[in-house]
Amino acid sequence: MDKPLDILIAGGGIGGLTAALALHAKGHRVTVCEATPELKPLGVGINLLPHAVAVLDTLGLLPALRAMAVETSALVFANRHGQEIYRDPRGLDGGYSHPQLSIHRGQLQLKLWDEALARLGAERMHTGERLLGARMVGSQVFAQFQHADGSSGERRADVLIGADGIHSALRRQFYPDEGAPRWNGMMMWRGTSIAKPFLDGRTMVQAGHRLAKFVVYPIAPPAADGTQLINWICDRRLREDGIGGGLSAPSREDWSKPGQLADLLPTFGSWHFPWLDVPGLIQNATQLLEWPMVDRDPLPRWRHGRITLLGDAAHPMYPIGSNGATQAILDAQCLAEQLSVPQSVEAALDAYEAERLPMCAKIVEMNRQEGLDAILDLVEQRAPAGFAQLQDVIDPGEIDTLVRHYKAAAGHRQQR
Ligand SMILES: Cc1cc2nc3c(=O)[nH]c(=O)nc-3n(C[C@H](O)[C@H](O)[C@H](O)COP(=O)(O)OP(=O)(O)OC[C@H]3O[C@@H](n4cnc5c(N)ncnc54)[C@H](O)[C@@H]3O)c2cc1C
Repeated sequence: MDKPLDILIAGGGIGGLTAALALHAKGHRVTVCEATPELKPLGVGINLLPHAVAVLDTLGLLPALRAMAVETSALVFANRHGQEIYRDPRGLDGGYSHPQLSIHRGQLQLKLWDEALARLGAERMHTGERLLGARMVGSQVFAQFQHADGSSGERRADVLIGADGIHSALRRQFYPDEGAPRWNGMMMWRGTSIAKPFLDGRTMVQAGHRLAKFVVYPIAPPAADGTQLINWICDRRLREDGIGGGLSAPSREDWSKPGQLADLLPTFGSWHFPWLDVPGLIQNATQLLEWPMVDRDPLPRWRHGRITLLGDAAHPMYPIGSNGATQAILDAQCLAEQLSVPQSVEAALDAYEAERLPMCAKIVEMNRQEGLDAILDLVEQRAPAGFAQLQDVIDPGEIDTLVRHYKAAAGHRQQR
């Protein structure tokens, strides 16, 4: 690119803000328009895989993130009795160049927003501006917005990036017949509780099987009183769809929808692990949200003229394997790289898409096949009451093969 571009980003979530910082670092003039009138630390926990943390490190954010997050030491698979099936060392403990970070999604978003405010300037960061649609006139993009007070406006740019999440307005403009996200019959209740650390205080655990699964990991360093903010997710399969998410979710996907403990206790109320009292933890929830497990079919293309998509707007996927935020961050880095080498804007957007679309489509597909959760199902089928010796139930080599296959396809860069 021979001159700085005016780049407009619709959506100030994890993907849009990382793109803003990465594009700004390449010398472009970036403007962010976020629909929410006032940013609040919404959401619960997410995981950033080491290759996404490496991107945030190049943006100078690692020390601040380390102070807010937990450096995950391992991902442990367990049965519904809490017995360990497989332990996959993560981050620095797993031989990666960077830590894997378990972090509060809303606090991460606010941190990225504050950084973008400081680096781009307040005049380029707008809240309460909801993108409605966009049109191209020659090589210019004109984007229409609705403001929080109901008024409307238009912004001009050389490039428009739709980072506006799973209900993306731009995606709907280009694919008007796509309809609602596809549901696989699984409902997720996401909560946080303040509790004593479990295991080493840095482990993420997935326990159970395809009908009921409990995922738990800490998302903040221990407080002075020794307690820790712990994120947990109760997954219950409410309907069977076969595999591929052909169902319509019971209500519109909304990250703020409160959940009810009464929906969880009949299933998880008896899950007392030797190292964690699951019902005790969920009954102490400080926050509980309900979210259906949805995704969308991969798109044939993301670029339309000088407009493209990024993150969940481009490739919403089931939150399996810690890929939602990670892949959005990798999109941001790739887009910034392509928009900084000498080539036309269209060629840069095509190169970005050629690198990112097939990989994300593959992850969507792998997650529909349950990702690494297939390990849990195998053990549940073979030993529903638990096991005395794991090797009587499953060959550790079988697990290794599954794990290696998934991680290679999801772009893990483990150095040993
Ligand atoms: C409020 C909220 C809470 C979440 N909580 C969790 C969680 O607890 N755990 C988890 O794993 N994932 C959570 N997610 C999803 C997760 O952040 C994403 O899957 C992932 O980080 C990819 O990020 P993204 O930037 O593509 O999308 P998102 O993080 O969804 O960001 C999209 C942004 O675009 C904004 N937006 C939407 N429509 C428009 C529009 N028309 N114009 C302008 N802006 C628009 C949204 O307000 C949002 O800020 C949450 C998302 C949101 C929006």
